This record gives sequence, structure tokens and C-alpha cells, in this order.
Amino acid sequence: MQILDQIASARQALAEERVKGRRIGFVPTMGNLHQGHIELVKTAKTNCDVVVVSIFVNPLQFGLNEDWDQYPRTFEADTAKLAAVDCDYLFYPGDAEMYPNGMARQTRVIVPTMTDVLCGASRPGHFEGVTTVVTKLFNIIEPDEAVFGIKDYQQLAIIRRMVEDLCIPVMITGGEIVREADGLAMSSRNAFITAEERPRVNQLNQSLNWVRGEIETGRRDLRGLEAEASRQIEQAGFRIDYFSVCNSKTLEPATFDDREITVLGAMFTQGARLIDNVSISL
Ligand code: AMP
Repeated sequence: MQILDQIASARQALAEERVKGRRIGFVPTMGNLHQGHIELVKTAKTNCDVVVVSIFVNPLQFGLNEDWDQYPRTFEADTAKLAAVDCDYLFYPGDAEMYPNGMARQTRVIVPTMTDVLCGASRPGHFEGVTTVVTKLFNIIEPDEAVFGIKDYQQLAIIRRMVEDLCIPVMITGGEIVREADGLAMSSRNAFITAEERPRVNQLNQSLNWVRGEIETGRRDLRGLEAEASRQIEQAGFRIDYFSVCNSKTLEPATFDDREITVLGAMFTQGARLIDNVSISL
């Protein structure tokens, strides 16, 4: 696996691959890789000839009071995991390589409305940081296909919208959520869950599945379901950020007539904010 930390060297290496007619797959990450990330790399390997993974803890997508400086950085372990699944290139730029003019002067990419709800409501500016860095990464790597986790459902929906709206020639693929045995979605932030809370944190996933079951068996008082599920999570000892039954494409509150529904939830533990979702096709 070749490690590239400069934009120019990444462009040159990938231009050579393109000349050979190879289809390029791309998996953007912030590192601290777990099996969820590795499954995305495997999907890219299956669908493409050459796979590029990026590791960049993007400061532009963290709020002032968020955990950018505490975010786990595990470069040695990450490279070993990527090499073990035959990743071809790791793009690992520094902050100055990505933001040479500083973050305040950085041109931004804004996807309206969808970015203001759910996670966007409690993390103002977060998705603007994501869409901006992903656009930059797409322009550097020029992938044929990029794989994003369904775990971050809102992020995936926003990227799909951005690519459509800006006519970016990249195929976007969603990778299934990889979970621990008890249903907890794998996440780098799970490291911040305390031992005392750990047995109960799968309540988020359990409540999402409960709502899915209720909808599949015909219940349609969606706002009532949201309130009941929120109560379940609060009773397990966690503070709710949001719990919403949404239209899968627009992320607007689902209505009686919607057939493609995604239920999304976010809750606070003592040390982390956890998100999860389930989708339903009626
Ligand atoms: P992150 O490093 O957390 O920014 O995540 C990088 C990519 O991995 C994103 O597309 C995430 O949606 C995806 N991802 C994170 N956790 C999981 C998981 N448990 N299952 C599947 N994909 C995941």
C-alpha cells in the first residue's frame, strides 16, 4: 500500500492508474478504523480495480466545543488494517495541505435545508464542513465510485444530493451498518462509552427496531411512535438529541403516504453522542 500525503503526488499516482484503464474506488474516513470502515474498503475492492482510502480528521466539520483534539488518532494500527485488506493507496494529508489558505478563507459547499435538520440542528456548520472536504477529496482523487456508510445516513443522503446538484461524476454507494453483537453500531466514538453505560447503550438500536416493527405491522401515528421511542431511551438513562421518522430521500418528517422511510436517532451518553438508523420499504 502506497501512502501519499501530498495532493500533487496523489494526483500523479492516480493519473497513472487511470491511463491503465483502471476504475478507481474511494473510501473517505477520519481514521481509527474498525470493521465498519473495513467493510466499506472491501466493497470498494469488489466494485473497482484500485482502492484509495483517505484518513483526515477534518477540522472544518467539528464545532468549537466538539472533540476534534480528542478524536482518536491511530495511524499505525489503521495502516496495518488497510494493508491486510489490500488497500492500494492511503491518502493522508496534513491540515495545511488541505487548507493552505486557512479554514476561515476556505471556499465552502452548501447543501441547503437537508443539512439544517437532525444532526445538523445540534451541530451547526458540521455538514458544510463535510460537503466541503468531500468535494475537495473528490477533486483530488477523481474516483469513479465512492463508498460511504449507511451508519451516517444523513451524511450519505446529503452527499447524494450534492453530487446530483453539482453534476459531480462520481457513483455513490452506501455500505451496510456494521454492528457489535448486541446491536450497537460500530463507531470510533464508542471508545468514550463508560463501562457502566455500555450494557444499556444498545437501547437506541432496540428502539429503532421497535419502531420499524410497529410501522411494518401497520401503525401510522408516526409522531406518537417518535415520542414513545424517545421515552424508552430516556428511561434507559440517556438524553435524547432527536428521534425522527423521515422520508428516506428528503429527510423531511415522514407522512402517512411515504413508502420509503428511514428512522433516525441520536442520543447522548456521558462521554459520547451516538447515532443510528433503520430503513423501511413498505
Ligand atoms: P468516519 O471515519 O467516522 O468519518 O467514517 C468514515 C466512513 O465510515 C463513513 O462513510 C461512515 O459512514 C462509515 N462508517 C462508520 N461507522 C460505520 C459502521 N458501523 N458501519 C458502516 N459504515 C460505517
